[in-house]
Amino acid sequence: MHTDSFFKGFGREHARAVELIRKGELKEEGGSQVPGEVIEELVARGLVYKHKGRLFIDSEYGYFLGIDIGGTSAKSMLIDFGFKAVAGSFRSEDRGSDITAFKRNLEKALDGTMASANPRRILGIGIALPGTVDPSHGRVLFTTNIQFLSGLKAVELLPRKYASAWADLPIKLEHDCKAAVLAEKLAGGPGHTERKEASIVAVTVGTGVSAGSYVNGSVIRGATNAAGEFGHILVNGQDGRQCGCGKVGCLEAEASGSAMQAKWLERTGTKATVVEIAEAAMDGNAEAIELFKETGRWLGLGLSYIVNLMEPDLITLYGGVSAAYDLFSESLNETLSKHAWPLANWKVERSMIGSEIVGLGAALVAYEHILGSAA
Ligand SMILES: [Zn+2]
Repeated sequence: MHTDSFFKGFGREHARAVELIRKGELKEEGGSQVPGEVIEELVARGLVYKHKGRLFIDSEYGYFLGIDIGGTSAKSMLIDFGFKAVAGSFRSEDRGSDITAFKRNLEKALDGTMASANPRRILGIGIALPGTVDPSHGRVLFTTNIQFLSGLKAVELLPRKYASAWADLPIKLEHDCKAAVLAEKLAGGPGHTERKEASIVAVTVGTGVSAGSYVNGSVIRGATNAAGEFGHILVNGQDGRQCGCGKVGCLEAEASGSAMQAKWLERTGTKATVVEIAEAAMDGNAEAIELFKETGRWLGLGLSYIVNLMEPDLITLYGGVSAAYDLFSESLNETLSKHAWPLANWKVERSMIGSEIVGLGAALVAYEHILGSAA
């Protein structure tokens, strides 16, 4: 019954109270920050409960659904009010080659996620994808890898049975890196806690390279929401490689997983995945060790632009190549110190969230829309 009644009479004051209680900043009733009747309404709804005079959120009161549409698969997950995943995440083996196949595959992931969840308890949906979106109008503007999604509205991405079941819910679209950096800020600390750093840049190094930035309370969007195409800064103007974007010498063409695979094929005459190249490096294969070092040098050069431009408190890396951070952290930091402004500080870490970061971020986009400070 929640979804029908949740939004009725739920206003900014309620959202603010929930946020304060969730963060442990409003522990007892009668504080001056929130009127007592707002607390009483939240208690009457069942979202807040009192225990020994203190206030708590019933984290299972409602859920937020995150959908991560990747270049090769679609994943979905549910989180509760404590930002914890409910029943794990589900992934379709394939994302489909046209919109019909795409929806069929997404439906499989959603069926897995919803198998043990009450669909009436979902309060909002976030969908993250690798492309430029218009979040205010809920429309996909452009995706290079999944072109059949360009121009579609958020609800048009959902399989029919879910689209009709969730017709009245807020469905928010977000670029995958912007969703990821939101996850890094709100839930990237130990035990899904908020990170204290005020400025964070989350960089994906996987099939491609891209970045999301969070500065002083908000995700950096740019004039037309296209900020963060970090993979397409020029790093190799001498003998750069052809990039998927049409330009030459982009960071993504030198340091992504696909770049590593292409270089490996050129240098060894054999095909290998990034995981296989990492295994070879750990077994002492000199070619593989050097390829990771080289990748680290390109990334260090790329990150020096971020450090010199904005000196964030923290840079986190996520995505398939980042999983092998130990194999390239040294060359990355060496190159970074060579090119960063001498007085600039930086801290580069592998994200602790793991492969669920974009799905978690998508769910948090829905949470933020309804309850967060950015609402
Ligand atoms: Zn490019």
